Amino acid sequence: MNEQFGSCRIELAQGDITAQQVDAIVNAANSRLAGGGGVDGAIHRAAGPKLMEETFTKFPDGCQTGSAVATSAGRLSVKFIFHAVGPIWRGGVAGEADLLASAYRRCLELAVDHSCRSIAFPALSTGAYGYPMDLAAERSLSTVREFLLEQKQPELVRFVLFDGGSFGAFARALEAMSE
Ligand code: ADP
Repeated sequence: MNEQFGSCRIELAQGDITAQQVDAIVNAANSRLAGGGGVDGAIHRAAGPKLMEETFTKFPDGCQTGSAVATSAGRLSVKFIFHAVGPIWRGGVAGEADLLASAYRRCLELAVDHSCRSIAFPALSTGAYGYPMDLAAERSLSTVREFLLEQKQPELVRFVLFDGGSFGAFARALEAMSE
């Protein structure tokens, strides 16, 4: 499913973030950048041990929630990995929506800074961090749309949803947004 916003496109795909042929993929990291399960585990397994070495060397203090940092991509064929730290869901009263938006925005800024024309995101915060899928879909998509309309880059933003449930939630939210 695709939606055009000016000269840019948001694309929804179901699959594995590590299999994407784009300039940059986004990792759902934790604030210590310490590795974990879910997307993070899959990315580190696919990229190999050099990725963790680089991450610790470059960012020994980790990364704040709502922000992101860039590394190279080890064995993966993409040019960069942006490690984004989304918020842990605490019922919606702890600024989660703003922190989620900020994590997406920071990745898009990194994409522009690193001359990336295409970037793929997983659904940040919706796994171990417990952010409700429908709310995350709405906030994530509206944040990306706003950025694309303002900045007119990167050309392609792909959301890679892991299963049918998350794909459906993002598809409904994208459809509602473009009405
Ligand atoms: P967080 O800690 O930010 O919640 P997770 O990695 O636990 O991050 O999950 C984020 C989302 O990514 C979840 O919806 C999960 O189902 C999905 N996911 C898990 N593995 C992959 C993968 N290899 N590619 C894309 N999405 C994935």
